[in-house]
Amino acid sequence: MFDARTTCVVVVGAQWGDEGKGKLVDVLAERADMVVRYQGGANAGHTVVTGETQFILQQIPSGILHPRVTCIVGNGVVLDPDQLFTELDQLAEKGIDFSGRLVVSDRAHLVLAYHKLLDQASEKSQNIGTTGRGIGPTYEDKYGRRGIRVADLRDLAALRPVLAERVARANRLLELMGSTARAALDAQMALVERWTPRLLPLTADAGLVVHHAVKRGKRVLLEGAQGSLLDVDHGTYPFVTSSNTTAGGAAVGAGIGPTAIHGVLGVVKAYTTRVGNGPLPTEADDPEGRRLRELGGEFGAVTGRPRRCGWFDATVVRYAVRVNGLTGLAVTKLDVLDTFAEVPVGTAYRLDGSACEEMPSEVDLLGRVKPVYEVLPGWRRSTADARRLGDLPVEARRYLDRLEELSGAPVRYVSVGTRRDQIIEV
Ligand code: GDP
Repeated sequence: MFDARTTCVVVVGAQWGDEGKGKLVDVLAERADMVVRYQGGANAGHTVVTGETQFILQQIPSGILHPRVTCIVGNGVVLDPDQLFTELDQLAEKGIDFSGRLVVSDRAHLVLAYHKLLDQASEKSQNIGTTGRGIGPTYEDKYGRRGIRVADLRDLAALRPVLAERVARANRLLELMGSTARAALDAQMALVERWTPRLLPLTADAGLVVHHAVKRGKRVLLEGAQGSLLDVDHGTYPFVTSSNTTAGGAAVGAGIGPTAIHGVLGVVKAYTTRVGNGPLPTEADDPEGRRLRELGGEFGAVTGRPRRCGWFDATVVRYAVRVNGLTGLAVTKLDVLDTFAEVPVGTAYRLDGSACEEMPSEVDLLGRVKPVYEVLPGWRRSTADARRLGDLPVEARRYLDRLEELSGAPVRYVSVGTRRDQIIEV
């Protein structure tokens, strides 16, 4: 992925999230100097398996597992400091030395306890399928210009009256929403006072740090959370997350200009999954759906929720190629399809009897489309030990060729298992 002229690369999920970005970033980070998280919060969990140890990281970029990589939590992220500290403690317990390698943007917005209460109350009425961790309300406050940023922790005396107003407002909203939960100013203040001594030493103008790295030709990976179809603008609104997950969000959320970015790698599963509500056109009926779920271990890393599973949807990935400007694809979990005799691929949609080649803007229309399938022969052999394309069964190679043709971006990586070494570089 990196070469002399391609030193700053975005890695995005090109479906509905959970594509295995964590593993890809982990593999690519081996060659990187810096990994930057640019959006999202502790609702997106990356699972990375190194040897016998499994790490679930929600706030910290998975690049932290590589000893020479500097990790940045960008301004576009909403930060839950308690979650960050829990992850730091886990890393320390497992012997990962992160001192001097983690920088948190002082422009990042903080998730406060009242954001979580508001999230849980609104989920009851809106039923979007959020994780209830306060991410949505924190972004709402950011755009409503009521947010509390990391930099605000530098002056706690000035913060107290601001927090008093925010807590009162949150309580009025909770009452309106029919919730009996209430936030308390003293508890909020106690929380931020506890965070401050541990968080402030990690903070800086992170955009400047990334800018210097890019200028010096360091290899920088910008890591997105969730997937393109969950982008607040380009996703299946309103069943989306509250930030721009797509590559455009990478420049904004890392604090650099778009011209600093040289390539965009889209991570796709060899099939499709989605967690939460909203349409999923190529969703497979049981027993196939269940089989994909069990073979792929498709249960949420953060919530344990079973994911809805289906076949590769080329309309989705074509769309992701367009809205992200993808320069390459990384196809993950090819091994999950190893035992299927036939593998359907959704090549296009039909909507009310007519051809529909682009993603409809309205979620109701997407709910009505019928996928057009092409059924490809399965390979019925393990791909887990393949390390070059030539090691793959011919049917698996044909499958990948077809995904590439239908999607419109070249396949650059193929992942065939959870371990770091189970990867093919094309
Ligand atoms: P992310 O948020 O996009 O990183 O995705 P998750 O971490 O939620 O889900 C990815 C899961 O798939 C993790 O449990 C990974 O260990 C696993 N995984 C990643 N790549 C592969 C692969 O090629 N094959 C298999 N079988 N599992 C994989």
